[in-house]
Amino acid sequence: MHIYDDDIFKMACDQFEVIADYLNIDKNDRERLMYPKRAIAVTLPVHMDNGSTRTFQGYRVQHHLTLGPTKGGTRFAPSLSMGETAALAMWMSWKCALANLPYGGAKGGVAVDPAKLSRTELEGVSRRYMQEMIPFVGPHTDIMGPDMGTNEQIMGWFMDTYSVYMGYAVNEIVTGKPVSIGGTEGRREATGRGVVYLIERAMDMLKMDPEKSTAIVQGFGNVGSVAALSLALKSGLKVIGISDATTALYNPNGIDVKAAEQHVFKKGNLRAFDQGDRVDPNELLSLPCDVLVPAAVDRVITAKNAAQLKCRILAEGANGPTTPEADLILEQRWDEVFMIPDILCNAGGVIVSYFEWVQGLQSFLWSEMEVTDKLFRILEHSFSQVIRRAKEHKISHRTAAMAIGVERVLRAKKTRGLFP
Ligand code: NAD
Repeated sequence: MHIYDDDIFKMACDQFEVIADYLNIDKNDRERLMYPKRAIAVTLPVHMDNGSTRTFQGYRVQHHLTLGPTKGGTRFAPSLSMGETAALAMWMSWKCALANLPYGGAKGGVAVDPAKLSRTELEGVSRRYMQEMIPFVGPHTDIMGPDMGTNEQIMGWFMDTYSVYMGYAVNEIVTGKPVSIGGTEGRREATGRGVVYLIERAMDMLKMDPEKSTAIVQGFGNVGSVAALSLALKSGLKVIGISDATTALYNPNGIDVKAAEQHVFKKGNLRAFDQGDRVDPNELLSLPCDVLVPAAVDRVITAKNAAQLKCRILAEGANGPTTPEADLILEQRWDEVFMIPDILCNAGGVIVSYFEWVQGLQSFLWSEMEVTDKLFRILEHSFSQVIRRAKEHKISHRTAAMAIGVERVLRAKKTRGLFP
């Protein structure tokens, strides 16, 4: 389908075809499972600070509505396209199904660089985006959340815009909101914490000693910074490499991640942070370490560098960091590189978003401890299922994780039937 024409959508389809072949899915069901249910493109006219009016392109893709409403993040990135949005929505479907959440996948966003907007302009883009989406979203249709380039404040503006339109506070229209307006304790940290919970589980299985282990984390935003902090301060690993869009740093003696976080809080990025040697961002991924966490953009582990990875555990914090060609290489190296695939590894975010949605619908209030405890229980269940399936069927962890997700969606579609 031409509207999704994009390399990253093709990558998501190629991954799906591998699973469909493995599950022997009938060709009549393949396209029905693969192509999104709905795709919405909007044009957002926004007043800029200099008095001009600029238009931005916005998207929302709802992958399937078989198991419940769709759920997915909102990405603000200059290169965002309909195809990329559709790929991310498809991955969300398998991720939600693997965690057994009553959702289909969705994703949305605006083709914009948020760092180049003033706060007023960012608010204008965010509110106009939600305003344009009102006819297509709702607490029982499609629930938005944060992703790359968006944050709690933007989710707050989304919630306010929708609520003003409805005439009452609709907390459950969006997750990842500030706690002061119905957000859930621990949602901001949920993805990074989940990544680290699964790394600890893998280290335990592989009998690795965290105190003697090192980690490299690519991306220092919501997912990467929380994962790096948690690895260093909670699990006791030495974080020897970090990076963001401006800088990649390496220090074999360890980087003070707390200081890096405070630096980014004040300065916005790692550019002037001086704890370590500046290295080529691509090389950072193939430096020796025990745990490698790509937590930034997609397709950073490719056929070019997959054979060079020197980590024992590859924990995919980002969505789609590994291409299918790299997967083939890593499958050959299964006893050298233990992979925690994205739809399992970064599921903490959508799991706690689910809690936040339920809390909003039911007006519940849960403590951070309750939230984290429930999160880890779901992750534990998914992790064990994936490892068992991979072992029993002699397949990769990605194939096992995606197969469990795809199977659940297929089963639900078959049970509901095809109307008319
Ligand atoms: P974010 O915007 O908070 O942070 C992104 C970070 O990546 C920033 O530090 C940015 O500078 C850095 N970055 C961007 N391009 C880079 C590059 N080429 N090389 C190195 N670093 C680069 O975004 P986030 O919410 O942390 O999301 C990161 C990834 O995790 C994305 O793939 C996203 O889809 C995925 N994810 C996020 C969540 C969530 O709850 N936020 C949940 C699941 C998955």
